[in-house]
Amino acid sequence: MDPQHTAPANPVVPGSISQVLNPIRGRLIVAALLAAAGAMLTLVPLAVIAHIARVALADSGIAAAEMGWAVALGVACLFAGMLLISLGELLAHLADNRMTHHLRRAIVQRLSRVPLGWFSSRASAEVKQAIQDDINTLHSLTAHFYTTVGRAGGAILISLIYLFAMDWRMAIVSLLPFPGFFLFFSRAMKASEANMQAFSAGMGRIDNAVVEFVNGIAVVKAFGDSGKAHSRYRQAIDEFAQAFIGFTRPLVASMANANAMIAPVAVLSVVLLFGTLFVAQGWIAAADVLPFVLVTPGLCGPLLLLHYITHELSHATGAARRVQALLQTPVLEAPAPDMQQSPKGCEVRFEGVGHAYDAEHQVLTDVSFCLAPGSTTAIVGRSGAGKSTLARLLLRFFDPSTGRITLGGVDLRHLECSSLYRHIGFVLQDVRLIHASVRDNIALGRPSASQQEIEAAARIANLHERILGLPRGYDSVVGEDAALSGGEQQRLSIARAVLLDPPVLVLDEATAAADAESEAAIQDALAHFAEGCTLLVIAHRLDTVMHADQIIVLDNGALLEQGRHGELLARRGLYAQLWAQGGYSHSEPRVVPSC
Ligand code: ADP
Repeated sequence: MDPQHTAPANPVVPGSISQVLNPIRGRLIVAALLAAAGAMLTLVPLAVIAHIARVALADSGIAAAEMGWAVALGVACLFAGMLLISLGELLAHLADNRMTHHLRRAIVQRLSRVPLGWFSSRASAEVKQAIQDDINTLHSLTAHFYTTVGRAGGAILISLIYLFAMDWRMAIVSLLPFPGFFLFFSRAMKASEANMQAFSAGMGRIDNAVVEFVNGIAVVKAFGDSGKAHSRYRQAIDEFAQAFIGFTRPLVASMANANAMIAPVAVLSVVLLFGTLFVAQGWIAAADVLPFVLVTPGLCGPLLLLHYITHELSHATGAARRVQALLQTPVLEAPAPDMQQSPKGCEVRFEGVGHAYDAEHQVLTDVSFCLAPGSTTAIVGRSGAGKSTLARLLLRFFDPSTGRITLGGVDLRHLECSSLYRHIGFVLQDVRLIHASVRDNIALGRPSASQQEIEAAARIANLHERILGLPRGYDSVVGEDAALSGGEQQRLSIARAVLLDPPVLVLDEATAAADAESEAAIQDALAHFAEGCTLLVIAHRLDTVMHADQIIVLDNGALLEQGRHGELLARRGLYAQLWAQGGYSHSEPRVVPSC
């Protein structure tokens, strides 16, 4: 037995699987019933063979016509059974297709409504696992589980009815190996459960050691300590091997006994043994043993099938739980059509804004300030003060826990998303490019933009010449023949924002991923683009913000100081301290146009 099959990979959330299956449950039940009826019919030929043999052996003479009818009935039942099983499979696969389609659409629709900030805290692998892997795993449940249970259950049921109808005493003794199977099997389960925890912990340690080893391989090699990294991996493997032996040793004997009990040859031996005994005692005729010889060993296959499919179920249950969890991801509150408003102007106001990512950790507290149209506001503060959070709230990656943010007098919650992003553009540190042409990447927010407009945006972003140098120019595909450096990606993100030409622009450490040459290009691009915009700049370097109209100094999520560079220096508070500490470079400002 595969040890990984002994326990579900994830705890089961009650109701998950039934919720996922709800839309197709009726079809799956019909498919299972069709498969069960089909399996029953395919066993009729065995009963026909047994009947013909019994009549022939009884020497009572069998008419050729009667034999012909019996054979025809057997063949007809066999084909009808196969047809019903195929119909059941077809129905289950169609239902699976319907459900898969429904789930993928529902997940994508849900994800399109979750806050953008949700994605930043999750790896795309997690979403891919649910949309692709988990839905594929569910296929084994929807397309195969019900029909397999139907087929196996139908075959077992009809066999038992038939055997008891033939001779109940012989039926009971013929079935004796089966309780033996369950006895050994439950013993194996108990033995594996006792060692399961050590086994899973060993697996977890190997996973961690592998990730640590692979992630850190460059650093470890560079610092010449590869032996140490190897040794942690080796130790995890040795511990796992010990846990594996502990897990499998008590399992092997019990499972071998369990499987031996229901091996067809073992079952046949029991039937023949008791059959001989019964015939010797004169309790039944020799010919009456034949149905048991033909049918009883056939019970082994369906029984094992049921056993294996139940393990598949545990995997599918874990997958259903993850898919269900994704479908219940909290979504961003969308304004009802009658609540939607249009901003009047582009003044941005933070009014008593507070935010907590989780219950214990208040990141922002009661922050209020205003971005006057056409002005530049810089947010500064120590790392972790809440600067990026403030920017993300303005972009509605999340909604504030308390207070509100307004654009042109309208609460962001009452703005349609498309309207919000028409008014507020952003260039963030973390640039996301899609697997598409450079042209499509630039025109992501305005797919209808003309080639001239796209090129003009790329020129402002100092990227046009670089794109022309790519093998297929604007048609080069990111990740294929367009390998862009961090700085170039950032300029592409600026080109995206330029194309949208929003009245409000949020810049978050826009030059973080750039080298010196690229940084100069980015600064030039931004200086051209930002003129006339209402700017909110988050930067760790004061040289990029010292000429801003207002500087907001955040400390521990609270607004500590507010004013212009000179005023704040004169106040000798945190801003002056940060300046004096040299946490920021003191070169001439380039990003923010002087106002
Ligand atoms: P700054 O930009 O000033 O460095 P941030 O706004 O990035 O600060 O972070 C402020 C605090 O919020 C930090 O303590 C950080 O750990 C926490 N934080 C940031 N993003 C998240 C998130 N997605 N989930 C939970 N906590 C977060």
